[in-house]
Amino acid sequence: MKNKYGIISMVVLMIALVIGIFTITTYSMMYGGLYVLLLFLSGYVVLMRYCRKCPHSMNGSCHHKIPGQLAKKLPYKKTGKYTLYEYVSTIGSMLMVFVLPLTSMDGRYYLLIPYLIIWGTVILMIKTKVCKFCYNRWCLSCPNKVKM
Ligand code: SF4
Repeated sequence: MKNKYGIISMVVLMIALVIGIFTITTYSMMYGGLYVLLLFLSGYVVLMRYCRKCPHSMNGSCHHKIPGQLAKKLPYKKTGKYTLYEYVSTIGSMLMVFVLPLTSMDGRYYLLIPYLIIWGTVILMIKTKVCKFCYNRWCLSCPNKVKM
């Protein structure tokens, strides 16, 4: 099913990532480069550990579109319950991507405030407009889990 908020939330997330890259790069070019590398590594971890096991990537119905398409090109993983390692590595990767730019925003409120607002918007949009149409029942955020 098409969900415009799934795609809009990805575009808004990209804006947050660009602000993050800008913030770190203007602080230190080397750290900026390392952060970009971390973005690619984290992206791979999330796609491989989380999206690859999601039924929406398997059947081409990912609400965010591109993550599902990319995940489907990775080595096969059977849809099913996530392991603790998959949860921890996915959440840890996303946390690092979010937190690291904050370390170089000291006193730069013109970057900090938009950065936090944009991340908040992405999370709110996904929670209120995307998750309810998603049937990745093993996802921690899934409101459509089968009640046992
Ligand atoms: S719906 Fe979510 S978990 Fe599933 S493939 Fe898309 S982005 Fe990944």
